[in-house]
Amino acid sequence: MTRLFIALACLVLAACNNPDPTNKPTIDTVAEGYVKLVLRVGQYDKDVVDAYYGPEEWKPAALESKDSPFPAKELLSLAESLQTQLASVDVAAFSALEMARFAMLGKQLTAIATKISMLNGATYSFDEEAKRLYDAEPPSFPLSHFDELLTQLDAKLPGEGSVAERYSAFANDFVIPKEKLDDVFRVAIAEARKRTLAHFTLAENENFVLEYVNDKSWSGYNYYQGNGQSLIQLNTDFPIYIDRAIDLAAHEGYPGHHVFNALLEMNLVKNRGWMEFSVYQLFSPQSLIAEGSANYGIDVVFPGDSRLEYEKTVLFPLAGLDANKADLYYEIQAIRGKLNYAGNEAARLYLNGEITREQAAAMLETYLLYEPDRALQRTRFMDQYRSYVINYNLGKDLVADYVESQGGTADNPEKRWQIFQELLSNPHTASTISR
Ligand SMILES: [Zn+2]
Repeated sequence: MTRLFIALACLVLAACNNPDPTNKPTIDTVAEGYVKLVLRVGQYDKDVVDAYYGPEEWKPAALESKDSPFPAKELLSLAESLQTQLASVDVAAFSALEMARFAMLGKQLTAIATKISMLNGATYSFDEEAKRLYDAEPPSFPLSHFDELLTQLDAKLPGEGSVAERYSAFANDFVIPKEKLDDVFRVAIAEARKRTLAHFTLAENENFVLEYVNDKSWSGYNYYQGNGQSLIQLNTDFPIYIDRAIDLAAHEGYPGHHVFNALLEMNLVKNRGWMEFSVYQLFSPQSLIAEGSANYGIDVVFPGDSRLEYEKTVLFPLAGLDANKADLYYEIQAIRGKLNYAGNEAARLYLNGEITREQAAAMLETYLLYEPDRALQRTRFMDQYRSYVINYNLGKDLVADYVESQGGTADNPEKRWQIFQELLSNPHTASTISR
C-alpha cells in the first residue's frame, strides 16, 4: 500500500527519479542510461547483449539498415557522460550493498566504453583488455609449468605413442553415444536441479528448454529469457564425453548460468529495482562471476566424491559405458583441469599477434590434448570472444577462493551453498571477491 502511495505521488510530482533540488543524478537514472547504451551497442554486435528482460520501451528504434555506420563518437560520449553522472551521485547515505552496486555499475560502464572503442578499431593487449572488460588480472605461466603436468599425464596414460595420442585413445571409451545424449543430459540436469532446489528458493515458474545445435564456437550456451526462463543449447559438433554431462548440466543450468540469472532477476531487478541487472552485457565484469560461478557450481552441486559416485551408478550405465576405468579417467581429468590455463597462454600469444592461428591450435593440441579439428574450433572462439577465455579458469579459481576462504569447503557443503548463494545474488566483480 505504501508503495502504491509513493508511486501515485511520483506520478503527480513527476520528480521521484531525481528529487534532489540541485538536480544531482541518481544511481537509478545512471542505471537506466547504462541499459539503453548497452542495447544500442548491441545493435552493432550481436554478442554484446547476452540477455535483456527490462522494459520494452527502453529498446532503441530499429537501425535504418544493417549497414548503418557505427556511431562510435556519440556512444563513447554517452558512456563518458554516464561515468561523470555516476561520479556525482550522492553516496553519503548508501549502505554497503548500495556501495557494491555503485562500484559495479562504474566497472560495467568502463567495460561498455572499452567495447565501443574496440568496435571502433581500438586494440589492447590481452592483459589490458582483460582488466578493462573483466576487472581481472590474468596470471601468466611459463610453458615449463604445463610440461610438468604433461609428464604426470604421461605416467598415468596407458598404451603407446604421444601423450595426446594416448589420451585420445583412452578417452574414446568415455564418449556418450549420440542416441543416448538426450537421455543422459536430461537425467543429469534433473539431478543438478533437484540438488540445487534443496538449497535455493527460486521463482516457482523457473524452467528451461533444452536444444541441440551445430556449427558453433562453443560447446554449450545459456540464453536467459527473463521471468525465470532459460534456453540451453548444446553443441553436438564434436564427441561429448561422459564428464561433460554433469559439467554442462551444472554450468549452463543448476546452479550455474540459469540459476545465477534467475537469482539476479529475483533479488536485484524485481525486489530492488536495480535495472542495470536487467541487461547482461557479455563483455563485462559480470561475465567473470558468471563463468567462474558456473564452473565452480559443479563442485557445489556435486562436492568431493559424490560426483564420481553418482556418475558411476547412474550416468555410466545410462550411457551404456563401462565404469571400470572411471577412477583413472577422473584422475586424468583433474590434471587436464590444471592444464586449462595453457589455453589462456595460447590466447594471449595469438591475440597479441605473437603466434599464428595454426600455432595457437598446435598449443591447444599439445597442452589441452584437443583433437586438431576441436583445436581449430577453439581458435574461432578466441576470435569471437578474445580475452573472455580467462573468465572460465581464473573466474573459477577466484570464486573457489572466495567461497572456501569463508568456510565453504567440500566438507562443509551447507556453508558452501550459503556463501555461493550470497555471491550469486549480489553485485560482485573480480577485484571485489579477490583477497
Ligand atoms: Zn558459460
